[in-house]
Amino acid sequence: MNQQSDLILRQIPAQAAALGPALTALRRELHRRPELGWMEFRSSVRIAKALEKMGCDEVLVGDAVCDRDSRLGVPPQAELEAHYRSVEAEGLDPALLARMRGGMTGVIGILRCGPGPVIALRFDIDALPVTEAEDPDHRPAALGFRSELPGVSHACGHDGHTAIGLGTAKLLCGLREQLHGTVKFIFQPAEEGVRGAGAIVAKGHLDDVELLLGAHLGGEPDARGDTIGVGPNRTLATSKLDVLFHGKAAHAGLVPDAGNNAMLSAATAILNLHAIPRFGAAPTRVNVGRVTAGAGRNVICDRALLELEVRGLTTEANDYMTAYAKRIAEAAAQMHGCSCEIALRGEAAGDCNDPALCRTVLTVCRDRLGLAVAELPDEPKGYISEDYSLLAARVRSHGGQSCYFKNLTACAAPIHDPRFDFPERALVTGVTAFAGLAASQMG
Ligand SMILES: [Zn+2]
Repeated sequence: MNQQSDLILRQIPAQAAALGPALTALRRELHRRPELGWMEFRSSVRIAKALEKMGCDEVLVGDAVCDRDSRLGVPPQAELEAHYRSVEAEGLDPALLARMRGGMTGVIGILRCGPGPVIALRFDIDALPVTEAEDPDHRPAALGFRSELPGVSHACGHDGHTAIGLGTAKLLCGLREQLHGTVKFIFQPAEEGVRGAGAIVAKGHLDDVELLLGAHLGGEPDARGDTIGVGPNRTLATSKLDVLFHGKAAHAGLVPDAGNNAMLSAATAILNLHAIPRFGAAPTRVNVGRVTAGAGRNVICDRALLELEVRGLTTEANDYMTAYAKRIAEAAAQMHGCSCEIALRGEAAGDCNDPALCRTVLTVCRDRLGLAVAELPDEPKGYISEDYSLLAARVRSHGGQSCYFKNLTACAAPIHDPRFDFPERALVTGVTAFAGLAASQMG
């Protein structure tokens, strides 16, 4: 670390702290108006306008962010359009909004500060189909910033991630004269269901990136203070599949033999999916989460939809599960004279952290930014999946490095719980870490 970057880094904790009240206000504004994946119209307009105002050299929206055909798990057109129209009616920047129509959400801000490393910082922006708790001891309810949208809430803290991203962009834009290199602020849509990252990768935004950083808010309710947690961060590679069985309807009493029972194919598939032999070299998971089938008691079912997922600690393990699952679906269809269509609705890769960059993150956060840090164990309590891994895989494929760390604080409940909430001082921690880490490489 040279003297120049040391000088810059010294300013960052105080500058981040000064943003605290604005970050809290922004987080609460986003929290009240959550938007599901590919429908983050209001959020994306909000982000794009803020990045423009801060002085980013480029602010990409619409088709410039995601490859349209690589988006996974896009909601039905009618759902997209209904939400689009409700946001349009609010009178936000109509030209900007129009570029996002049809689910082309997400924003990338680019700050160019001359020759130097190309760094990407990733922040996810979508909410979850979870109804937020309304009891008075749930802080967002008590303080009046609970989700206003029934059935949708920021139960995974992506409102916080968005605020941290904008705070980081503001701080780095303000320091631009002292920085060398390029920063891409990636505000990714549709992380939930691991649907969005692949479309950003497909657009080539990671092709020139040398360093990639991402983070997630979290932590036990009894956590003391705030900590940047860094470890191998072994997330599960995963494939989310929809299997649609096509059969043939018939009268169940009169001509049962004239039908092909799609429900029977689905049922056969469900039991056999859960019976896939374990993979020896790495842990795996399988779950059929939803089945939709049938028309009536006396009708042979002609259509059945399974929504399932497989996971594996390595890409190899997940590939094994995915191939096995597809074979079961095909065979179960054939067994009862049906056919099936298999659609990929989401995906993530496995490992995404480079030990060398992890060490840098720990050292810079602790020694240069004065943040508390913790080395996280290689064996976590449980595994999740994150499509950040797809961004990381692209960066690492050409020799770049990635680190996904944890912004740990005393959260009220686990992520995805209706009572999830975090103390907003963690927003300042997040901005300090992201801005400081980027600046440490750009001095
Ligand atoms: Zn999340």
